[in-house]
Amino acid sequence: MGLRIGGREIRRGTVEQILLKVSEYYTASPVNVAVTVIRGTERGPTLFLTAAIHGDELNGVEIVRQVMTGYTPQQLRGTLICVPVVNRVGFLTHTRYLPGRRDLNRCFPGDPNGNAAARYARILFTEIVGRSRYGIDLHTASLGRTNLAHVRADMSSRGVRRIARAFGTEIIIDSPGMPRTLRAAATAAGVPTILFDAGETFRFQRNMVARGVAGVRGVLAALGMTQDPPKEPRFRVIVKVSEWVRSVKGGIADIVVRPGEILYAGDEIASITNPFGREVSTVRSPLTGLIIGTTTVPMVNPGDAICHVAKLEKTLATVENYCITDSRGKKMLLA
Ligand SMILES: [Zn+2]
Repeated sequence: MGLRIGGREIRRGTVEQILLKVSEYYTASPVNVAVTVIRGTERGPTLFLTAAIHGDELNGVEIVRQVMTGYTPQQLRGTLICVPVVNRVGFLTHTRYLPGRRDLNRCFPGDPNGNAAARYARILFTEIVGRSRYGIDLHTASLGRTNLAHVRADMSSRGVRRIARAFGTEIIIDSPGMPRTLRAAATAAGVPTILFDAGETFRFQRNMVARGVAGVRGVLAALGMTQDPPKEPRFRVIVKVSEWVRSVKGGIADIVVRPGEILYAGDEIASITNPFGREVSTVRSPLTGLIIGTTTVPMVNPGDAICHVAKLEKTLATVENYCITDSRGKKMLLA
């Protein structure tokens, strides 16, 4: 069976670098997205790996690069389609968005007759997702936030469940994903896709990158694309409910918690002072769970999200078992 991307044929047993034209600048030069395809010598499934669909999220760029340079066609059954920088325009201008503050990850499956972002999305959807059997989309928290390494997946889909479990993070958030995201649109189109989310924007975080690379390798192994033995995480919690805890007051938040920490109902999350120091209030957790994300910006308005907590009930004891107690007496998941 022939595989063609951007009009180029990729033969079995080869590595091809393709510049996929997704749009045009007003300077009349093409907007090209670099795609590397490693097509194994032997038959097997096709998996796409995408990163920096939000142009300021860098950990995934390095994850794709490491995976991409880590396999030869001889070591692979099936095909790996690697797109380290999906939002090339945002990546070059240091922003999450496409021009006009359009979020590319709210434009899938795209439209060939739609606006600029919808057309950009359509070409990617046809040429990358349309050629694949499974997909992994790599992200970090958005600007001003940080996340624990975790997978987001629609666990009601069998194919999604398979790769989500194989990725091997301890925490899987079971959600269908926002409409028109790459993950939701690909899964709806019959290409089971998961999202890996870890760390912050504008940074290459070595530990997060290592988690991501190990996760992709786990998926390749589970799909029979490599000889690596599948690896199980120490434990696995599938989270169905998570909540953002928000500031009630405006002020400067001194946040005393971190992603990966267990929070018990009533625990302090932050104290909020105003710049004149006359008023102090405490934000406490309304629920017990694991912190999967926090803000990194201390200036908060009433209603601003401070901390994202995955609710733990029956699984609390399991998670506690794998925690260490730090010097503040907080239970922290080992990284
Ligand atoms: Zn993102």
